[in-house]
Amino acid sequence: MINLAIIGGGPAGLSAGLYATRGGIKDVVLFERGMPGGQITSSSEIENYPGVKEIMSGIDFMQPWQEQCFRFGLTHNMNEVQMVAKNGDHFDIHLSDGSKIESKAVILSTGGRPKKAHIKGEDEFWGRGVSTCATCDGFFYKNKEVAVLGGGDTALEEAIYLTRMCSKVYLIHRRDGFRAAPVTIEHVKNNPKIEILTPMVIEEVYGDNSGVSGIRLNNIETNEKRELNVPGVFIFVGYDVNTGILRQNDGSMLCKMNDMGQVMVNLNMKTSVEGLFAAGDIRESSQKQVVIAAGDGATAALSAIEYLQSMG
Ligand SMILES: Cc1cc2nc3c(=O)[nH]c(=O)nc-3n(C[C@H](O)[C@H](O)[C@H](O)COP(=O)(O)OP(=O)(O)OC[C@H]3O[C@@H](n4cnc5c(N)ncnc54)[C@H](O)[C@@H]3O)c2cc1C
Repeated sequence: MINLAIIGGGPAGLSAGLYATRGGIKDVVLFERGMPGGQITSSSEIENYPGVKEIMSGIDFMQPWQEQCFRFGLTHNMNEVQMVAKNGDHFDIHLSDGSKIESKAVILSTGGRPKKAHIKGEDEFWGRGVSTCATCDGFFYKNKEVAVLGGGDTALEEAIYLTRMCSKVYLIHRRDGFRAAPVTIEHVKNNPKIEILTPMVIEEVYGDNSGVSGIRLNNIETNEKRELNVPGVFIFVGYDVNTGILRQNDGSMLCKMNDMGQVMVNLNMKTSVEGLFAAGDIRESSQKQVVIAAGDGATAALSAIEYLQSMG
């Protein structure tokens, strides 16, 4: 039986591992199906992590995290977790190789992934002009024109956010109506920097080695084509949270989830199940940023230490 299983080795899981092991907990295992680092390793640039002045790629940025986080005894089990189940006063961690590991406490930090729109050029320019995060990348387009794809609350709120630094924001949506809060729709319609383009789809994102130079649009009612010379395209068509491991054999979820399929936690990152904690993009109301995931991981680890001590 191990003391603590941390599932997912992104910023949340790695900082949880650092705080738990440095806090004196023995037998702490990080289950990460690939190399630790998380989603940020797919980004070509990060410049909003406090204390790190240089702009660097996500891979370079996460490299020292691994070194630091494994220094105090954290071990990496390179395996995919299939399911976590409560079994009396401990948890069973079922792994994809068919084995099972028992743990007294668990921190869930499996993160998530923004959904792709499956547009031509999206993969090629992912992280090089195609973005899914205005907070992360908006600043790179200061005083420039950008396009936003999507029609829900997130797309509209991010479009408004981008008007603070961009000279113009084209909001592209396949329907004439938006699925967002009426007040947000009003704010979008009244914002002089936003031009709404509906019912339109992006057919292609194009550019060259230096990044995106434009997008090709199609009006799905009239078939009229249009091109926009924008260096940045923000895609907000949904977000998948990696919570599959919480699904039990009877179809129920191990802990309480909100309507958006995110894990519900309190301010100490405690879930509705004793000994089960959640941190990072997987939890409700996360702002989905590296610094926030790291803070969550530290909080979850401190809560887990307290829980383990209370078990004796
Ligand atoms: C392209 C891009 C650019 C971004 N840019 C920025 C930025 O500039 N600034 C910023 O602050 N944030 C940025 N973000 C957001 C940031 O990456 C996330 O908020 C952060 O990584 C969340 O950390 P996490 O630890 O919660 O989850 P993740 O980073 O998603 O890590 C979860 C980990 O869990 C693993 N995992 C999942 N399921 C299992 C399983 N069943 N078994 C084992 N392992 C599993 C995954 O492999 C992954 O490594 C960006 C995101 C993307 C995609």
